[in-house]
Amino acid sequence: MSDTFKALVLTQNDGKTVSDIKQLSNDDLPDGDVLLAVDYSSLNYKDGLAITGKGKIVRQWPMVPGIDLAGTVLESSSPDYSSGDSVILTGWSVGEKYWGGYSQRQKVQSKWLVPMPSGLDSRRAMAIGTAGFTAMLCVMALEEAGVKPDAGTVAVTGASGGVGSISVAILAKLGYTVAAVSGKPEADTYLKGLGASEILGREEMNQPPRPLEGQRWAGAIDSVGSTVLARVLAETQYGGCVAACGLAGGADLPGSVMPFILRNVRLQGVDSVMCPVERRKIAWQRLADDLPAKALGEIGQVASLEELPALAESITLGAIRGRVIVDPNA
Ligand code: NDP
Repeated sequence: MSDTFKALVLTQNDGKTVSDIKQLSNDDLPDGDVLLAVDYSSLNYKDGLAITGKGKIVRQWPMVPGIDLAGTVLESSSPDYSSGDSVILTGWSVGEKYWGGYSQRQKVQSKWLVPMPSGLDSRRAMAIGTAGFTAMLCVMALEEAGVKPDAGTVAVTGASGGVGSISVAILAKLGYTVAAVSGKPEADTYLKGLGASEILGREEMNQPPRPLEGQRWAGAIDSVGSTVLARVLAETQYGGCVAACGLAGGADLPGSVMPFILRNVRLQGVDSVMCPVERRKIAWQRLADDLPAKALGEIGQVASLEELPALAESITLGAIRGRVIVDPNA
């Protein structure tokens, strides 16, 4: 094993976030009971905000960003993991407060890890990443609210993004009828390929709703927030559920309580960062089982650490289709 390895490091200069590729050694790594060789990481919306400095994501400097990673255990003082084990890490404020996945090696806490489920490998796991994991948590939330495939159409907003693309693919595989809401007209073929039956333009869903609109959706997965979420709620049918996980379009919610009190609609928040380990394991095994390999192939593109600053800018502008897998060894 070589003494040094490559990592993307963020620092602050005059209040601006600066990113550099640096050579680090194991001694530079933070405390943790597991040393990992990082096989792959991925680019999420939050990583884009961290690298560009457009959002207050980083809470400790210098920071190695990357809110998720898949790797192989090199050394472990935890009884739960041994050298050679393949593991996944998402959330737990990694890439925000603790050093994350944009490095060839990282030291982490074993309690954050999930063993690689059967049917996945590091690369496929990071084609899924935090975005896909969150998509599965949203699907589970709809199921738990009783939204079954025969209940009607499920809307997915921000559909061409990471959470959206994987939500469309999982829902279609499970037999749901999916309406994809996207601001990218050129993504029609892609979204239909993932299993969407219907594509709606973002503009149509971005119109301020009346307190109640015609009932169109048995449920929805929303990664956009703001007016789009308010409209989805106003259009959700009696007893339906909307799983809300994101704010790509804004953090406000300009709607009314009418869908809740007159249509028994449920608004279910979804958080992936602090999700308990047992639920993580269930979600990851379901991702291995319920997300077709073909869809994952279409969703993922691979990038090096050097390419991340430009891609980070693109993801904050909503301009990335699907998922970016990060190969720190490229
Ligand atoms: P992406 O950038 O990959 O996808 C977001 C998509 O939203 C875009 O591709 C675009 O899709 C749409 N979009 C972008 N800007 C706007 C806008 N101004 N108005 C309406 N739609 C817009 O990000 P991710 O999928 O990684 O994350 C999506 C959201 O979910 C983010 O807000 C992120 O922070 C959040 N998130 C939350 C998690 C949690 O634990 N709660 C975990 C992971 C993500 P299109 O062009 O098709 O409309």
